[in-house]
Amino acid sequence: MKKDFDIVVIGAGINGQVMSLAAAHAGFSVALIDQNSFIENALREFDGRAYAIAFSSVQMMKNLNLWKKIEDTALPISNIKVLHGSIQRGPASAILQFNNADIEESPMAQMLEDRFLRLRLSQEIKKNAHIDLIEHRKIYEFSNLNKQKQLTLDNSSKLQASLIVASDGVNSPTAKAFGIRKAGWKYKQRGLVCAVDHEYPSDNTAYQYFLPEGPLAILPIKNNTASIVWTESIQNASAISEMDDEEYLSILQTRFGDFLGKLNLTGKRLSFPLKLSISEKYVSDKFAVIGDAAHGYHPIAGQGLNAGLRDIAALVDVISCARERGEDFSSINILNRYQVWRRFDNQALGFATDNLNKIFSSHDPLFGSLKNLGMKMIDKSNRAKRVFIRQAAGLNGDLPKLMR
Ligand SMILES: Cc1cc2nc3c(=O)[nH]c(=O)nc-3n(C[C@H](O)[C@H](O)[C@H](O)COP(=O)(O)OP(=O)(O)OC[C@H]3O[C@@H](n4cnc5c(N)ncnc54)[C@H](O)[C@@H]3O)c2cc1C
Repeated sequence: MKKDFDIVVIGAGINGQVMSLAAAHAGFSVALIDQNSFIENALREFDGRAYAIAFSSVQMMKNLNLWKKIEDTALPISNIKVLHGSIQRGPASAILQFNNADIEESPMAQMLEDRFLRLRLSQEIKKNAHIDLIEHRKIYEFSNLNKQKQLTLDNSSKLQASLIVASDGVNSPTAKAFGIRKAGWKYKQRGLVCAVDHEYPSDNTAYQYFLPEGPLAILPIKNNTASIVWTESIQNASAISEMDDEEYLSILQTRFGDFLGKLNLTGKRLSFPLKLSISEKYVSDKFAVIGDAAHGYHPIAGQGLNAGLRDIAALVDVISCARERGEDFSSINILNRYQVWRRFDNQALGFATDNLNKIFSSHDPLFGSLKNLGMKMIDKSNRAKRVFIRQAAGLNGDLPKLMR
């Protein structure tokens, strides 16, 4: 097996896989390492997980020739409706609506199911001659060797790389090993995730309800099915998780309302701890962090994966431009450009999602009136709506080449 790579990517979640494909597309040789088997990850039982992939992220997949491979599994989002709800009475009528017609670039997002996305990415990785895949391995030690980093794996084999990219998730052992400190806190909420099939068509509309215990997102996927991301206090979430399917569904249906008709649970139910995690820095010499290894958000705005994809597009942009100019692409001066590009935006997104959750998950009646007033004002202002919808489509700010 080859031992010397331009880039070693640690963590083969969605970000690690896209990072490897994007780096290979730019002509770098890559090793992708995961502690698990990512084929097993890709083939796991349907668990309702799905992502709202922003317009700019879809552009990136098109530029990497990946979109054609997953397009048949995607569902375009045409509308987003934001509304208040109460646990006893279900949702009120929508007070804020975003529509594809509000921007030129449409659809603003596409829903992709986790199981299909992982499977198709893993198939692309397997057949990519620039990527070596190393499964069931952890890194035992990092050291310096000449002008490269040396990685000793837990089976004592050694690899060399010009650049190490950590994409090993929100608790990133690799970021820790490189001395990257993180700030943030655990939420007193958990994310419950499941899928339901429903009687009436969704009309490609995504719903975000603000309930006092936390937001409830109803995200349309194919075949009259919806992926549900449901945030509850830790106490409620553990009681709800203990319930059998019938009870679970009846609690969900009360919050959900009956606008999609009869609901049935389909696939597994999941529950995730939620935390805000912000890295103090993203790079050191010959090292960079991306995706959840760099930032973890509350899922209220469904932007975690989109932010990770933007990290990748920016990092690949920076290192490939440096290499074209004949510079050392993994030097700290070059990698700092990636940090400057992404860290501030990601921190701003972290604080925005944190504040949204605080404001909208409040029981205070004064906050309730202010929230209603604020949402109605945004709904009436075309300009304000455009700003929000462009943000959701990932079109604000300085876009890396891969996302244009
Ligand atoms: C409830 C919920 C709903 C969400 N909805 C959305 C949405 O609609 N849109 C959106 O954009 N985002 C969404 N997100 C966020 C999104 O799921 C994450 O941002 C994204 O999946 C993170 O991917 P990742 O590859 O960075 O990390 P992970 O998926 O955590 O992958 C990390 C990988 O690293 C490997 N690993 C860990 N430690 C080691 C080690 N020591 N050695 C080797 N390998 C290791 C793991 O096995 C794993 O494969 C949601 C998140 C939650 C919790």
